[in-house]
Amino acid sequence: MADSCCSGESSDAAAGDTPRAWFARMIPNCLAYATAAKAEGRPIVGILCEYTPRELIMAAGAVPVCLCGGSADMIPAAEKHLPANLCPLIKSTFGYHVERANPFLEMADLVVGETTCDGKKKMYELLAETRPVYVLELPQKVDDADARAHWVAELRKFRAFLAERFSVTIPDEKIREAAGAMNRERALRRRLADAMAADRPGLTGRRLLNFKSSISGIEADFTQYEKALALLAEPKTCRGNGQPVRVLMTGVPMAHGAERVLEIIEGHGGLVVATESCTGVKPIVDDVDVAAADPIEALAEKYFHLPCSVMTRNDRRLDLLRLLAARFRPECVVELIWQACLTYDVETSRVRRLAEDELGIPYLRIETDYSPSDSARIAVRVEALFETVRAA
Ligand code: SF4
Ligand code: SF4
Repeated sequence: MADSCCSGESSDAAAGDTPRAWFARMIPNCLAYATAAKAEGRPIVGILCEYTPRELIMAAGAVPVCLCGGSADMIPAAEKHLPANLCPLIKSTFGYHVERANPFLEMADLVVGETTCDGKKKMYELLAETRPVYVLELPQKVDDADARAHWVAELRKFRAFLAERFSVTIPDEKIREAAGAMNRERALRRRLADAMAADRPGLTGRRLLNFKSSISGIEADFTQYEKALALLAEPKTCRGNGQPVRVLMTGVPMAHGAERVLEIIEGHGGLVVATESCTGVKPIVDDVDVAAADPIEALAEKYFHLPCSVMTRNDRRLDLLRLLAARFRPECVVELIWQACLTYDVETSRVRRLAEDELGIPYLRIETDYSPSDSARIAVRVEALFETVRAA
């Protein structure tokens, strides 16, 4: 890993009370938080997509927990029920359900899905056979006013559903309060991501990816984000040999446990200076307007504009990539596609043209699943990409 100059902390920082050590324990931390919250009577709500406004769940007094699966071990169980030729993220998530192996899912009082890609939508139907599932209908013509109006209506319906389900009232003020907490979290994570703009950043893309939590709004996480920012601000002497190749990653999200491609990139002379996907900056670039007269309109505005490939047209994604390229100065673009993710795969054509014709930098598409069987082949392609960059 390109770590000699990019650790941001001393080499023994994995031990003790450092941000690195804290986020290395992210799952146990979240489990302790969710267990305590449940014991206090707060409902646990599983979420599966960045279009779901965590703020509404938090305003209902519940705890939103991301349930996206990143483990290859869960896939064989899922394939007994789902087609093998399906995105590994969907299969892994469903495998946890089949095996009853995700403690957050097991303690969930509700699971919230949304109509994004076909595989997820249909998987929710199977999940709903034995678990309480609520599906938000996400309109997909993002520039149409009536589509946005429909999304606003969906969020109002969701608010009413949560209030009834958990026997609470959800006043506007509670939504604003939750939006304030989420805005704070997004701002902290944006500042951490921005550290990668430096010529020799104080951390790696892999480490940055670790600085996040399956549960949002945990005060102890905020403290650690602030600590990490303070550590990054300290002057350091870089001892690294040579400059790694700056990489802009885009494409599908890398759920916890599914970071293999990023690790290969950074293990072969690259440094992922920005990740555009849903486990990168895509969900944290925009905030919710807490001063808006109607907080549901404000939530709808923020979430509807998330540039996911399920939208048509999804021009905002290309705009975001342009912004990231200008800010982080990548020397190449690597696009990750989970096997059978058709929406992102079809968009590769536009992303490749953006990289090669507009930004003038090499582009590499990597299609894979959660199995490590093609790691050596991916490494060879990444090395060839970096040779091209260095030869330019
Ligand atoms: S990539 Fe799209 S479908 Fe997947 S989590 Fe992000 S917004 Fe949701
Ligand atoms: S990666 Fe693609 S196929 Fe998989 S859940 Fe996300 S949008 Fe759907």
